[in-house]
Amino acid sequence: MAAPSFPLWTARVLTLFPDMFPGSLGQSLSGKALKNGIWGLETVDIRDFARDKHRSVDDAPFGGGAGLVMRPDVLTDAIEATVRRSLPDGTQVGDMPCLYLSPRGRLLTQARVRELAKAQCVTFVCGRYEGVDERALESSGVEEVSIGDYVLSGGEPAATVIIDSVVRLLLGVVGDPATLDEESFEEGLLEYPQYTRPREWRDREVPEVLLSGHHDRIKAWRRQQAERITEQRRPDLWSDYASGKNKGSAD
Ligand code: SAM
Repeated sequence: MAAPSFPLWTARVLTLFPDMFPGSLGQSLSGKALKNGIWGLETVDIRDFARDKHRSVDDAPFGGGAGLVMRPDVLTDAIEATVRRSLPDGTQVGDMPCLYLSPRGRLLTQARVRELAKAQCVTFVCGRYEGVDERALESSGVEEVSIGDYVLSGGEPAATVIIDSVVRLLLGVVGDPATLDEESFEEGLLEYPQYTRPREWRDREVPEVLLSGHHDRIKAWRRQQAERITEQRRPDLWSDYASGKNKGSAD
Protein backbone atom coordinates (compact mmCIF):
# COMPACT_ATOMS: atom_id res chain seq x y z
CA MET A 1 0.00 0.00 0.00
CA ALA A 2 1.39 3.44 -0.99
CA ALA A 3 2.06 5.79 1.93
CA PRO A 4 -0.71 8.41 2.34
CA SER A 5 0.45 12.00 1.68
CA PHE A 6 -0.82 12.99 5.14
CA PRO A 7 -1.34 10.69 8.11
CA LEU A 8 -4.84 9.18 8.32
CA TRP A 9 -4.81 9.91 12.03
CA THR A 10 -2.67 12.11 14.26
CA ALA A 11 -2.06 11.82 18.00
CA ARG A 12 -1.01 14.99 19.79
CA VAL A 13 0.33 14.34 23.25
CA LEU A 14 0.74 17.07 25.85
CA THR A 15 3.21 15.83 28.41
CA LEU A 16 5.95 16.82 30.82
CA PHE A 17 7.96 13.86 29.50
CA PRO A 18 8.02 14.06 25.67
CA ASP A 19 10.90 11.58 25.56
CA MET A 20 8.46 8.86 26.65
CA PHE A 21 7.12 8.93 23.03
CA PRO A 22 6.94 7.07 20.76
CA GLY A 23 8.30 4.51 23.27
CA SER A 24 6.63 1.17 22.60
CA LEU A 25 4.53 2.79 19.86
CA GLY A 26 7.72 2.96 17.78
CA GLN A 27 7.87 -0.87 17.63
CA SER A 28 6.04 -3.61 15.75
CA LEU A 29 2.78 -2.76 13.91
CA SER A 30 2.35 0.77 15.28
CA GLY A 31 6.06 1.54 14.72
CA LYS A 32 5.94 0.40 11.11
CA ALA A 33 2.74 2.37 10.50
CA LEU A 34 4.31 5.47 12.07
CA LYS A 35 7.34 5.14 9.83
CA ASN A 36 5.09 4.67 6.79
CA GLY A 37 3.14 7.83 7.59
CA ILE A 38 -0.20 6.05 8.21
CA TRP A 39 -0.46 7.85 11.52
CA GLY A 40 1.39 10.84 12.93
CA LEU A 41 2.65 11.68 16.40
CA GLU A 42 3.31 15.15 17.78
CA THR A 43 4.44 15.79 21.32
CA VAL A 44 4.00 19.10 23.12
CA ASP A 45 6.17 19.80 26.17
CA ILE A 46 3.83 21.39 28.72
CA ARG A 47 6.86 22.92 30.42
CA ASP A 48 7.42 25.15 27.37
CA PHE A 49 4.33 27.09 28.55
CA ALA A 50 5.67 27.78 32.04
CA ARG A 51 5.70 31.45 33.01
CA ASP A 52 8.69 31.77 35.32
CA LYS A 53 12.41 31.33 35.04
CA HIS A 54 12.25 28.04 36.96
CA ARG A 55 9.80 26.72 34.36
CA SER A 56 7.38 25.64 37.12
CA VAL A 57 4.34 23.67 36.11
CA ASP A 58 2.94 22.65 39.49
CA ASP A 59 2.27 23.93 42.99
CA ALA A 60 1.01 22.81 46.40
CA PRO A 61 -2.72 22.03 46.68
CA PHE A 62 -4.97 24.64 48.28
CA GLY A 63 -6.48 23.14 51.42
CA GLY A 64 -3.30 21.21 52.15
CA GLY A 65 -2.47 17.59 51.58
CA ALA A 66 0.32 15.58 50.01
CA GLY A 67 1.83 16.12 46.58
CA LEU A 68 1.64 18.79 43.92
CA VAL A 69 -1.01 19.83 41.44
CA MET A 70 -0.45 20.95 37.84
CA ARG A 71 -1.20 24.67 37.44
CA PRO A 72 -4.29 25.67 35.42
CA ASP A 73 -2.65 28.63 33.64
CA VAL A 74 0.31 26.69 32.27
CA LEU A 75 -1.71 23.65 31.27
CA THR A 76 -4.53 25.62 29.65
CA ASP A 77 -2.05 27.71 27.63
CA ALA A 78 -0.52 24.46 26.38
CA ILE A 79 -3.93 22.97 25.48
CA GLU A 80 -5.20 26.11 23.75
CA ALA A 81 -2.03 26.62 21.72
CA THR A 82 -2.12 22.98 20.62
CA VAL A 83 -5.78 22.97 19.66
CA ARG A 84 -5.27 26.21 17.67
CA ARG A 85 -2.47 24.67 15.60
CA SER A 86 -3.71 23.18 12.33
CA LEU A 87 -2.72 19.80 10.94
CA PRO A 88 -0.13 19.60 8.12
CA ASP A 89 -2.96 19.57 5.54
CA GLY A 90 -4.39 22.80 6.98
CA THR A 91 -7.28 21.16 8.91
CA GLN A 92 -8.19 22.86 12.19
CA VAL A 93 -8.32 20.47 15.15
CA GLY A 94 -10.63 22.67 17.27
CA ASP A 95 -13.61 20.34 17.45
CA MET A 96 -11.69 17.07 17.48
CA PRO A 97 -11.49 14.97 20.65
CA CYS A 98 -9.26 16.30 23.43
CA LEU A 99 -8.83 13.71 26.20
CA TYR A 100 -7.46 14.17 29.69
CA LEU A 101 -6.21 10.82 30.95
CA SER A 102 -7.64 10.40 34.41
CA PRO A 103 -8.62 7.61 36.82
CA ARG A 104 -11.86 9.57 37.37
CA GLY A 105 -12.72 9.48 33.68
CA ARG A 106 -15.18 7.36 31.77
CA LEU A 107 -13.73 3.87 31.26
CA LEU A 108 -12.31 3.32 27.79
CA THR A 109 -14.22 0.80 25.66
CA GLN A 110 -13.60 -0.69 22.25
CA ALA A 111 -16.63 1.26 20.99
CA ARG A 112 -14.99 4.55 22.05
CA VAL A 113 -11.70 3.43 20.47
CA ARG A 114 -13.55 2.92 17.18
CA GLU A 115 -14.99 6.43 17.42
CA LEU A 116 -11.58 7.93 18.16
CA ALA A 117 -10.16 6.15 15.10
CA LYS A 118 -12.66 8.09 12.94
CA ALA A 119 -11.38 11.48 14.12
CA GLN A 120 -8.53 12.96 12.12
CA CYS A 121 -6.66 14.05 15.22
CA VAL A 122 -6.94 13.27 18.92
CA THR A 123 -5.21 15.32 21.62
CA PHE A 124 -4.08 13.58 24.80
CA VAL A 125 -3.38 15.58 27.95
CA CYS A 126 -1.17 13.64 30.37
CA GLY A 127 -1.35 14.50 34.04
CA ARG A 128 1.40 13.92 36.59
CA TYR A 129 1.79 14.36 40.36
CA GLU A 130 -1.61 14.53 42.11
CA GLY A 131 -3.32 15.53 38.88
CA VAL A 132 -4.39 18.91 37.51
CA ASP A 133 -6.24 21.95 38.81
CA GLU A 134 -9.98 21.35 38.28
CA ARG A 135 -10.42 24.75 36.60
CA ALA A 136 -8.14 23.72 33.74
CA LEU A 137 -10.46 20.79 33.04
CA GLU A 138 -13.57 22.95 33.24
CA SER A 139 -12.31 25.78 31.08
CA SER A 140 -10.77 23.65 28.34
CA GLY A 141 -13.73 21.24 28.20
CA VAL A 142 -11.54 18.15 27.90
CA GLU A 143 -13.10 14.71 28.11
CA GLU A 144 -11.79 12.67 31.06
CA VAL A 145 -10.92 9.08 30.08
CA SER A 146 -9.68 6.26 32.28
CA ILE A 147 -8.00 3.07 31.13
CA GLY A 148 -8.97 1.15 34.28
CA ASP A 149 -9.69 1.25 37.97
CA TYR A 150 -6.11 1.65 39.19
CA VAL A 151 -3.75 4.59 39.54
CA LEU A 152 -0.77 5.15 37.24
CA SER A 153 1.99 7.61 38.03
CA GLY A 154 1.22 9.61 34.89
CA GLY A 155 -1.07 9.86 31.89
CA GLU A 156 1.64 8.84 29.40
CA PRO A 157 1.20 5.05 29.70
CA ALA A 158 -2.57 5.56 29.42
CA ALA A 159 -2.14 7.69 26.27
CA THR A 160 0.13 4.98 24.86
CA VAL A 161 -2.55 2.35 25.49
CA ILE A 162 -5.25 4.39 23.75
CA ILE A 163 -3.04 5.32 20.78
CA ASP A 164 -2.06 1.67 20.33
CA SER A 165 -5.69 0.55 20.38
CA VAL A 166 -6.65 3.19 17.78
CA VAL A 167 -3.68 2.75 15.45
CA ARG A 168 -4.31 -0.97 14.91
CA LEU A 169 -7.76 -0.08 13.54
CA LEU A 170 -6.40 2.29 10.87
CA LEU A 171 -6.49 1.08 7.29
CA GLY A 172 -3.23 -0.61 6.31
CA VAL A 173 -1.89 -1.25 9.82
CA VAL A 174 -3.11 -4.82 10.37
CA GLY A 175 -2.45 -7.08 7.35
CA ASP A 176 -5.93 -8.66 7.21
CA PRO A 177 -8.61 -6.24 8.50
CA ALA A 178 -11.05 -9.19 8.84
CA THR A 179 -9.12 -10.27 11.95
CA LEU A 180 -10.29 -7.07 13.69
CA ASP A 181 -13.97 -8.02 13.36
CA GLU A 182 -13.66 -11.26 15.31
CA GLU A 183 -11.83 -9.92 18.33
CA SER A 184 -12.94 -9.57 21.93
CA PHE A 185 -15.63 -6.90 22.48
CA GLU A 186 -16.54 -6.53 18.79
CA GLU A 187 -19.86 -8.28 19.28
CA GLY A 188 -20.08 -7.77 23.01
CA LEU A 189 -18.28 -11.07 23.65
CA LEU A 190 -14.79 -12.14 24.67
CA GLU A 191 -12.85 -14.10 22.11
CA TYR A 192 -13.10 -17.89 21.70
CA PRO A 193 -9.98 -20.06 22.41
CA GLN A 194 -7.33 -20.15 19.67
CA TYR A 195 -5.04 -23.08 18.75
CA THR A 196 -2.09 -23.66 16.43
CA ARG A 197 0.52 -26.39 15.81
CA PRO A 198 1.43 -28.83 17.22
CA ARG A 199 -1.87 -30.65 17.03
CA GLU A 200 -1.09 -32.55 20.24
CA TRP A 201 0.99 -30.96 22.99
CA ARG A 202 1.57 -32.17 26.56
CA ASP A 203 -1.27 -34.66 26.17
CA ARG A 204 -3.64 -31.89 25.13
CA GLU A 205 -5.40 -32.14 21.79
CA VAL A 206 -6.74 -29.38 19.60
CA PRO A 207 -10.58 -29.62 19.63
CA GLU A 208 -11.66 -32.01 16.88
CA VAL A 209 -14.11 -29.57 15.31
CA LEU A 210 -11.29 -27.17 14.35
CA LEU A 211 -9.70 -29.93 12.26
CA SER A 212 -12.96 -30.82 10.51
CA GLY A 213 -12.73 -28.20 7.76
CA HIS A 214 -16.47 -27.69 8.26
CA HIS A 215 -16.81 -23.88 8.37
CA ASP A 216 -20.35 -23.69 9.73
CA ARG A 217 -19.57 -26.10 12.57
CA ILE A 218 -16.36 -24.23 13.39
CA LYS A 219 -18.24 -20.92 13.42
CA ALA A 220 -20.95 -22.32 15.69
CA TRP A 221 -18.35 -23.86 18.05
CA ARG A 222 -16.44 -20.57 18.29
CA ARG A 223 -19.60 -18.61 19.02
CA GLN A 224 -20.60 -21.11 21.73
CA GLN A 225 -17.12 -20.90 23.31
CA ALA A 226 -17.14 -17.09 23.19
CA GLU A 227 -20.51 -17.10 24.94
CA ARG A 228 -19.33 -19.62 27.58
CA ILE A 229 -16.17 -17.62 28.37
CA THR A 230 -18.00 -14.30 28.49
CA GLU A 231 -20.69 -15.68 30.79
CA GLN A 232 -18.06 -17.15 33.13
CA ARG A 233 -15.64 -14.21 33.20
CA ARG A 234 -17.63 -11.06 32.54
CA PRO A 235 -21.17 -11.07 33.93
CA ASP A 236 -21.44 -7.35 33.03
CA LEU A 237 -20.79 -7.98 29.32
CA TRP A 238 -22.85 -11.17 29.41
CA SER A 239 -25.97 -9.50 30.73
CA ASP A 240 -25.83 -6.82 27.99
CA TYR A 241 -25.21 -9.45 25.32
CA ALA A 242 -27.90 -11.80 26.64
CA SER A 243 -30.50 -9.05 26.85
CA GLY A 244 -29.70 -8.01 23.24
CA LYS A 245 -30.01 -11.63 22.16
CA ASN A 246 -33.38 -12.05 23.86
CA LYS A 247 -34.60 -8.81 22.34
CA GLY A 248 -33.48 -10.08 18.90
CA SER A 249 -35.39 -13.36 19.31
CA ALA A 250 -38.54 -11.55 20.52
CA ASP A 251 -38.64 -9.34 17.38
N1 SAM B 1 -4.62 11.98 42.50
C1 SAM B 1 -5.20 11.34 41.35
C2 SAM B 1 -6.41 10.52 41.80
O1 SAM B 1 -6.42 10.03 42.91
O2 SAM B 1 -7.35 10.37 41.00
C3 SAM B 1 -4.18 10.43 40.69
C4 SAM B 1 -3.08 11.16 40.00
S1 SAM B 1 -2.00 10.09 39.14
C5 SAM B 1 -0.77 9.75 40.34
C6 SAM B 1 -1.19 11.12 38.00
C7 SAM B 1 -1.77 11.12 36.60
O3 SAM B 1 -1.76 9.81 36.04
C8 SAM B 1 -3.21 11.55 36.46
O4 SAM B 1 -3.32 12.95 36.47
C9 SAM B 1 -3.62 10.95 35.15
O5 SAM B 1 -3.24 11.78 34.04
C10 SAM B 1 -2.80 9.67 35.09
N2 SAM B 1 -3.56 8.45 35.44
C11 SAM B 1 -3.45 7.74 36.58
N3 SAM B 1 -4.25 6.67 36.57
C12 SAM B 1 -4.90 6.68 35.39
C13 SAM B 1 -5.89 5.84 34.81
N4 SAM B 1 -6.36 4.77 35.43
N5 SAM B 1 -6.33 6.14 33.56
C14 SAM B 1 -5.86 7.23 32.92
N6 SAM B 1 -4.93 8.07 33.43
C15 SAM B 1 -4.46 7.81 34.65
